Amino acid sequence: MPTMPAVLKVAVPAPVNQLFDYLPVAITTKNNPSPGMRVLVPFGKRRKVVGVIMEITKESNYPINKLKCIDSVLDTTPSLSNSQLELLCWASQYYHHAIGEVVNNALPVWLRKPNQPEKLQSIYWQLSDTVTVEKTELLKRSPRQLQTIQYLQRKATACEEQMLLAGLSINQRVLKQLVKKKLIEKVQPECLQTKNTGTSSRVNLNSGQQHAAKSIIDNLESTNVYLLYGLTGSGKTEVYMEVIQAALGKGRQSLILLPEINLTPQIIQRFQQRFQCRIAVQHSGLSDRERARFWFDAKTGQADIVLGTRSAVWTPLAQPGIFIVDEEHDVSYKQQDGFRYSAKDCLLMRAKKEKVPVVLGSATPSLESLHNIHKKMFHFLVLNSRAGKATIPDYELLDIRGKKMHGALSDPLVKQIKQHLQVNNQVLLFLNRRGYATSIYCHSCGWRSICERCERPFTYHKKQQKMCCHHCDIQRQLIEQCPECSGQIVLLGHGTERIEEQLQGLFPGRQILRIDRDSTRRKDAMSTYLDKIDNGEIDILVGTQMLAKGHHFPDVTLTAIVDADGGLFSTDFRASERLAQLFIQVSGRAGRSNKKGKVVVQTHYPEHPLFQELIQQGYLVYTETLLADRRSTSLPPFTYMAILHAEAHNRSDTMHFLDYAARKVKALTAGNLSIFGPIPSIMEKCSGRFRFQLVLQSKQRKHLHEQLDNWLAQLGDHTLSKKVRWSIDIDPQDIA
Ligand code: ADP
Ligand code: ZN
Ligand code: ZN
Repeated sequence: MPTMPAVLKVAVPAPVNQLFDYLPVAITTKNNPSPGMRVLVPFGKRRKVVGVIMEITKESNYPINKLKCIDSVLDTTPSLSNSQLELLCWASQYYHHAIGEVVNNALPVWLRKPNQPEKLQSIYWQLSDTVTVEKTELLKRSPRQLQTIQYLQRKATACEEQMLLAGLSINQRVLKQLVKKKLIEKVQPECLQTKNTGTSSRVNLNSGQQHAAKSIIDNLESTNVYLLYGLTGSGKTEVYMEVIQAALGKGRQSLILLPEINLTPQIIQRFQQRFQCRIAVQHSGLSDRERARFWFDAKTGQADIVLGTRSAVWTPLAQPGIFIVDEEHDVSYKQQDGFRYSAKDCLLMRAKKEKVPVVLGSATPSLESLHNIHKKMFHFLVLNSRAGKATIPDYELLDIRGKKMHGALSDPLVKQIKQHLQVNNQVLLFLNRRGYATSIYCHSCGWRSICERCERPFTYHKKQQKMCCHHCDIQRQLIEQCPECSGQIVLLGHGTERIEEQLQGLFPGRQILRIDRDSTRRKDAMSTYLDKIDNGEIDILVGTQMLAKGHHFPDVTLTAIVDADGGLFSTDFRASERLAQLFIQVSGRAGRSNKKGKVVVQTHYPEHPLFQELIQQGYLVYTETLLADRRSTSLPPFTYMAILHAEAHNRSDTMHFLDYAARKVKALTAGNLSIFGPIPSIMEKCSGRFRFQLVLQSKQRKHLHEQLDNWLAQLGDHTLSKKVRWSIDIDPQDIA
């Protein structure tokens, strides 16, 4: 009896939620196809695309003789393991996103093309034997080269190229020049000792840290999830490193997710100083090929520690031992467009499948995680005091009603800044608005300059001499006089750029540094700034939430939130949670052991419960109030939510589409879903499109999900579905 030909079920990058059937190429193929391998397949009329075999079956829903053959098998071993394929299938189902796109998204860009992973070998560098003191002396005029040599001298072992580039924030050119001078040379990876788990620069953990680390390390074989709660500077990273060390001791790898903004050369160096093993880092500066190598090193087990941002959750590990999510509350873990996954939730699911414990760390845990503590799903670990002897800062709610103002800064605040500068301390001012002026008005007739695509005011950027829309990024020349009446233009409102100017006027001779998206566009700008701050070259720092995250500024003794009122009256149900997090994060930037920190909050609403409760009782107590509110109003985490977003150039198209969607979903779900809308998005008009949304909510996850696929399929059949841009967001983080 002739054997039935095998049918390959292939995930192909296309926005349809199905697998495509193909036949293998002639049996003589040298690569036996198996699930998880990438294949090149013909797709559509003339296209060839890279897909992944998800399953091999004997049958097809189509006549076998109608099926096309694959072109070739691209892998000799599967790119994705079985547990990864399972995870991706789960993610496709849970987020109701096309499987082909979900799988494609999990591969590094380089492997989404018909490239061979075997070509990705790591390059290591070491000092040549011919390095002499005299030769090093000659590098005095090339600080980057000198720095590299000194670094290799300190390490006294070969360094992987990516680590070297990232750790020193240098580029390939520096290495090329050093090769030309015969100061460094390549080494073959086989000659390397990578498993050496050195323990240099290890601190003595305090009792809280010891307890936390021991709880996790004693259960490395479990699938426990830990929430490690501790203020910034309380030593969470030291606990992570202790746990990673234990995993290394068992020959296991560690995966650490960080928000993009925290993945700095400083943190990479800290890991390098502590561990002698291979550390793979995925950061935004990598090329596609370098990203693929990162992925390959993790997959083959050549990297023992894997550090990355959101998308690193898909990085395969040969021997996973521990998963860590730092700043677990951070919104950047949720992808906000296309495949809208939560890297944290996907990692938790992955951990279950791969039987690995997870540590979530934060100074301001999300309400979801705190709720999971109440439900005893997560274990709670607390670091109580700041490591070393730093203390909790003093807060002052500065009521600025009727106070004399110097621009955005009240007179009492200016006086305090003066006092702190006089004793040679640093001051940090926080304002979540970049640019110079937030509105551009006509003084005679009241005309306002508005982006017509978004119906929002333009922001004036002084340095660029431009008006920018912060919603669609469009730029215009600054208008000299009113287009309506030729009247005089006035600039209202304060952004970071304007505060910087005001500070220069108030504190002449002081070094003022602004840190926001505009001032840090250059690739290594941020690390140059951080060095300056560390060296005490800066007196006053002013910046946006880039400053509120991650970095610790030990010489800052005064922190001020310039405008705390902005977030008090938002319509997003998460606004209070976010404002409280921001508040704690900003105040956590400052202070070291011997200098007590102070936080000043400028507000017109000093009696607002958010400030009162947060300051008097702290984040954990305040979040109890928030959780009680969420419970009584049936909001997440007590209910499960999905949002259908729709936008079109024509308002009525958007509305018709969502009305249809609302009718359909009501018909499908027997009353166990609450449906709100269509309601306008917070930005009702953006880039010339009208945006509305439908909110679905349910007390049980099951009820929310069971009819969604049917429903979305019906929506796809509607005539408007081509004119309207629409997408579903499961567990939305932004109601925008
Ligand atoms: P977090 O991750 O919670 O912000 P870190 O682990 O970065 O805190 O610790 C903050 C600083 O305190 C770091 O410079 C760290 O080396 C130091 N530190 C942490 N734990 C200890 C300890 N037990 N003894 C001395 N210094 C410590
Ligand atoms: Zn006018
Ligand atoms: Zn705009």
